[in-house]
Amino acid sequence: MKRQLLSLLIFPILISSLFAQTLERDQIDEKYKWRLADIYASVNDWQADVDMLNTDVEKLADFKGTLAQSSGSLYTALKTGNAFIKTLSKAWTYASNLSNENLNLAENQAMLQQTNALITKFGEVTAYFEPEVLQIPKEKIDQFFKENSELAVNFDMYIDNIQRLRIHTLTEAEEKILASFGLISEVQGDVYDIFTNAEKPFPKVTLASGEEVELTPASYTKYRSEENREDRAKVFEAFFNGYGNFKNTLGANLGGKVKKDWVYAKNRQYESSLEAALNSDNLPVSVYETLIEQVNNNLPTLHRALDLKKRMLGIDELHYYDLYVPLVQKVDMSFTVEQGQNVLLDALKPLGEEYISTLQKSYAERWIDYMPTTGKRSGAYSTGGAYDIHPFILMNWTDDYESVSTLAHELGHTMHSYFSNKTQPFSKADYAIFVAEIASTVNENLLNNYMVKNAKTDEERLYLLGSYLELLRTTIFRQTSFAEFEWEIHKKVEREEPITGKDMCAIYFDIVKRYYGHDNAVCVVDDYIQYEWAYIPHFLGYNYYVFQYATSLIYGTAIVEKMIENGQPSVDAYYNILKGGGSKYATELIQDAGIDPMSPEPVTLTIQKMNKVMDQMEEILSRTNK
Ligand SMILES: [Zn+2]
Repeated sequence: MKRQLLSLLIFPILISSLFAQTLERDQIDEKYKWRLADIYASVNDWQADVDMLNTDVEKLADFKGTLAQSSGSLYTALKTGNAFIKTLSKAWTYASNLSNENLNLAENQAMLQQTNALITKFGEVTAYFEPEVLQIPKEKIDQFFKENSELAVNFDMYIDNIQRLRIHTLTEAEEKILASFGLISEVQGDVYDIFTNAEKPFPKVTLASGEEVELTPASYTKYRSEENREDRAKVFEAFFNGYGNFKNTLGANLGGKVKKDWVYAKNRQYESSLEAALNSDNLPVSVYETLIEQVNNNLPTLHRALDLKKRMLGIDELHYYDLYVPLVQKVDMSFTVEQGQNVLLDALKPLGEEYISTLQKSYAERWIDYMPTTGKRSGAYSTGGAYDIHPFILMNWTDDYESVSTLAHELGHTMHSYFSNKTQPFSKADYAIFVAEIASTVNENLLNNYMVKNAKTDEERLYLLGSYLELLRTTIFRQTSFAEFEWEIHKKVEREEPITGKDMCAIYFDIVKRYYGHDNAVCVVDDYIQYEWAYIPHFLGYNYYVFQYATSLIYGTAIVEKMIENGQPSVDAYYNILKGGGSKYATELIQDAGIDPMSPEPVTLTIQKMNKVMDQMEEILSRTNK
């Protein structure tokens, strides 16, 4: 239950917006604002629910010791807890949306704090739920399900998610000791953040303009795409050598984190840290293995993309430091909100009448808050936490193509939430992170296909194709190369071999040279790139997470390719994800949508698409003599 509440169906995109946010909220036309009154007619109504929740939360303690008694007592406890979360989720969605309209309003922040305090309180009061459910023997659970169909229909997934962890759960005393190590489990991440952001000296370089710049992680992301080639070469060398100077310290620190992962996994009877990390979404290790194997099999397609980049940049020898230079100059395309809405009605038509009519409903019934205003939260997100009402989207519309594609992305999440909420009981409506980004990626793909098809000029078409190609290259190949590195350093620790910063440099350098075709003269990977691992904060902050960026894009792309190839049957299959919520485990839902994460097919289809994109680009380039 806690699990479900913590995610609350929020999927943010972070966008650094340079847009001047000068308008005040009351200057914006109502039609561009979401209608939060759909959730609560007034703040008083919201307060009434919150007051009720504050009284009811204590009552959830009354079920302690009763869960195993009978199918009826288990059902009553889960039903009561579930109804509580449903209302809390609704109240939280209202308060957080309201406070995001203007983060400067203290009274709205105070409302959000009230619901956050309830979430904490709920977690404390119901902490006994999961251990008690875990204590019920499997045979007894099966008997309960036979006796009480409501229990089975609503809570079989919730119960199975707890019960499947039995073999990885220790005695109470052991759990207590393991939990006590939580106090030191963040040390490596903290050390990394403090050291690399504050104490490590930042290298300085003098650019061709005579300007001397200091290379912090933030300024590096600006200067790495410098148009002057000597400048960016200089920036890269200085920046990564800056990490190389501390490779032993940073390596010992990352090594400590990898050892920590293994200590936890080993004590919980997992065969590897990878198995432990994937188990929260019940993903088999073969999903990860398949990704790395298939991406490696398709490196020639990455090399083709790199050759194309070399051709378009007009250089004889491509270096790793050339990769951030934009492939195609940005073409300005302008869209009002209404124009953007209409583009999406057309672009998403392949998803069928049900999808389009819901889209129209989301526009007409004001599910979306469009305009940037003073104090409004930046970026964009979709939230499906008001289960009985409808999802909401926060946007910061800036009249450009990025606004349209961000809206396509967030509408993917919103439709996923809408259909799942409508189809599944509340207890099964929430979907796993592993499937969440598929719906958004499907929409982005359909939008891109539509825009390419309807582009007015070759320039526009080349820009759209080029940006899409760069997205595939960086998300699929770069993220998978990180995933491979993360796996290799963990395996080394699990084999009880020592691991130092020097070892990490060697492992990383091998992977990058292989991916980018260094030995085949595709792209020169200069020596200092061996230190790049030390710049990636994800290795410290997350545990086997980055690969999901690649898998989401691969599955989303493959689903769209299947729709184009097979038509309606593949569209219908996709609704198994949209309407499936958390009614099955992630890999089963994806299989029901016609894509098997354990087979080579999704990567094959995505790579075919990538090659088609390059065919189109090369055709334009040849025709226009570039
Ligand atoms: Zn998203």
